[in-house]
Amino acid sequence: MNHLTRRSLVKSSFMPLAGMMGLPSISEAAQTAGSPYRRPKLRITEVRTAEVRVHGYQVHVRVYTDQGIIGQGETTDASEGNVPLIRSFARMLMGQDPLNVEAAFERIRTAGIFAGAQSGQYVTALTGVETALWDIAGKALGLPVYQLLGGRVRDRVRVYCDSGAREMIPGNERSKARIQEIHDLGFTAMKIDIDDAGDPARFDRVNWTASNGEIEHMVAKVAFTRETCPKNIDLAVDMHGRYDAGTAKRVAREMEPFKLLWLEEPVPPENIDAMRDVRASTSTPICCGENIFLRHGFRELLEKRAVDIVMPDFQKCGGLLESRKIADMAHTYYVPVAPHAVTSPIGMMATAQVCAAIPNFLVQEWHWIDSQDLWRNWVKEGEIIQKGFIPLPERPGIGVEMNEEGARKAQVPGTPWFEAAGRG
Ligand code: MG
Repeated sequence: MNHLTRRSLVKSSFMPLAGMMGLPSISEAAQTAGSPYRRPKLRITEVRTAEVRVHGYQVHVRVYTDQGIIGQGETTDASEGNVPLIRSFARMLMGQDPLNVEAAFERIRTAGIFAGAQSGQYVTALTGVETALWDIAGKALGLPVYQLLGGRVRDRVRVYCDSGAREMIPGNERSKARIQEIHDLGFTAMKIDIDDAGDPARFDRVNWTASNGEIEHMVAKVAFTRETCPKNIDLAVDMHGRYDAGTAKRVAREMEPFKLLWLEEPVPPENIDAMRDVRASTSTPICCGENIFLRHGFRELLEKRAVDIVMPDFQKCGGLLESRKIADMAHTYYVPVAPHAVTSPIGMMATAQVCAAIPNFLVQEWHWIDSQDLWRNWVKEGEIIQKGFIPLPERPGIGVEMNEEGARKAQVPGTPWFEAAGRG
């Protein structure tokens, strides 16, 4: 349809009726016509990727448009295998309007329902693309992404510090120094791990039924951290979904005196009834969700009251709008959201854009205390966390831009760096 014809259609008195009937040609005409809104017209021209390894393996995504606006996204954890998936998604995106994010998301998701689009790598790859589309939408409209997700309900996003690779060993000076470092950085919450494959009290390399000795060691780590850490810092504890139900109940009970922010995945997340039984057995708040995908994955978890807090990873669970929907679903059960987050400042800021807009946000993770030089040099804006909070930027889109020189230090050797994919 040529431009002249579209204009003539807009001026037509039949336009309202045609719009009600949802005729695509009329809709297109309305978009193209000059209006007070001056909606930008963009088309997707290309999708490129770069692979990095810092806290695990991540894929950075760039979506290019015919107007020179480039959107960026990031995928994490279930990212292995994402590059060929994203290449296949690119074929579905070519020539499309990037501002119709939900349509692009749904087209790709439903195209993959026989290929694993319910969870895992497929959804993670889709998350990176969806995030990049929101970045484009924000830049095209001159608005931060949170403004497009409902507007902000807070001015800054609270962040908690994962203690990193430094295990909390009772009485250990290096452990004390790490806790002091977290305090000095200004965080109001932190997290430690208590699952230990190398615990000398473990008698089996495969089975995760904890012995009395292991449970004593877990309790000692938490007691040491709680005593060393100032009282105004909340403490969360992660068991990484390894243990059996009996162990989980015993540990959750032992944790009660410490008044944890939460106990994370005391059992694996697949059996929601088991998670619910653990929760019902203790006053310790139970948190779960970093390996659950889409609203569909969280539905039963919430319906069965299996958790006190959900922790979807916004850079792998389905995208920014899907994360908002998961949060909204949790809100109807009065369950707060504490997103799992281990990405670079790009993924962290994308996550923060959603956290800004959801009423039931609790706290967002940060897992780069062992890679602080990389962290501070990853984006042109430098340090995005100020004294334990991410102040929300006013900049359009996600609000940060990659500093290539800094980020490229983490490039996976031998992989392309946002280079054009070959034909085929
Ligand atoms: Mg975890």
